Amino acid sequence: MTSSFSFTKTAQLSKNGRAGVIHTPHGDIQTPAFTPVATQASVKGVLPETMGELGAQALLANAYHLYLQPGPEIVDEAGGVGKFMNWPGPTFTDSGGFQVLSQGAGFKKVLAMDVTGLESDDVIAAGKQRLAHIDDDGVNFTSYLNGSKHRWTAETSMQIQHQLGADIMFAFDECTTLMNTRPYQEASVERTHAWAIRCLREHKRLTEERDGKPYQALFGVVQGAQYEDLRRAAAKGLAELDVDGQMFDGFGLGGALEKQKLGEIVGWICDELPDDKPRHLLGISEPDDVFWGVENGADTFDCVKPSREGRNAALYSPTGRFNVTNAKNRRAFEPIDETCDCYTCTHYTKAYLHHLFKAKELLAYTLATIHNERFILRMVDNIRASILEGNYQEFKEDFLGRYYGKPVEGI
Ligand SMILES: [Zn+2]
Repeated sequence: MTSSFSFTKTAQLSKNGRAGVIHTPHGDIQTPAFTPVATQASVKGVLPETMGELGAQALLANAYHLYLQPGPEIVDEAGGVGKFMNWPGPTFTDSGGFQVLSQGAGFKKVLAMDVTGLESDDVIAAGKQRLAHIDDDGVNFTSYLNGSKHRWTAETSMQIQHQLGADIMFAFDECTTLMNTRPYQEASVERTHAWAIRCLREHKRLTEERDGKPYQALFGVVQGAQYEDLRRAAAKGLAELDVDGQMFDGFGLGGALEKQKLGEIVGWICDELPDDKPRHLLGISEPDDVFWGVENGADTFDCVKPSREGRNAALYSPTGRFNVTNAKNRRAFEPIDETCDCYTCTHYTKAYLHHLFKAKELLAYTLATIHNERFILRMVDNIRASILEGNYQEFKEDFLGRYYGKPVEGI
């Protein structure tokens, strides 16, 4: 099988941390890289062209949302998700497992990273409230849009993701929470492994059947929650999987990650993964989490937070996140961030954004999202530059020290 997908390491940071380049049929991704989320083939409120100008190298769309609307066959007919949304660069689609199981199953705080003080009832909805039910073969779920019934299996997820046509896809997995019991986590890792085998088989079949389309890489997703033995076994198992010559092209680090142990967990997983394949940390963008992820071996990241928080008026600055609707910004005739080179910061003031949010003008969402996405993209670009230039530790201490206003633990 021809593969126009590969990973080249360009610098070593630590035991597992590195900089590199992911080669895809739609271009290269210099890593570490942040991948903004275009949930429904759109980064809400921002032109795809603008995302390119902000330095986004790739965009990630959600298989679950595009399956429900407009339907994967429409995206396929359009020429794939990149062409559909006029984004010429590399694209990712997630497997849909997270959305099916979080929105569907009614997990209230599925990715709660700090579970101190949370009871299991806070996290996992009672059976009758759930919109999704999982079994060893797949998941039945009810559409949040119109109440229609659906069933997804490993094969369904692969068929949908092939139709969506992204450069990087993820195997269908069960995303658990930190509140699930240890026996449940063990059973879930086994289930995800069994689905991984089926995903590889179906991926191979579809790649052959859809001959002539650009090669789509498939990443296996490592689950296992906060347990070292489960995470290591899951990673090793997926790394070694070979179904009739088809292996995973890279790996997703998924599931609930306990914030206090995020770096350690990423390290366990990357210890077991091959050095010559890329690793994507799913759903992470908080600055300290990104640094811990990078130095423990993650190459790419995605997260909805920069755009979602932007739409809620929470803006990023070198000295931390602040709310622009705060009264003190009413007459703040200065940029959100003096050091930022984004369109918002070079043309508008905090006072103007304060007004737009108060007046509920749509432009508020656009300008806030532009700045927040640029802030995280530039942070990760600077992390990559610091690895290549050999001054990662100084950059990390300086960035995190200013952002959180205190010396960083664990340096
Ligand atoms: Zn800015």
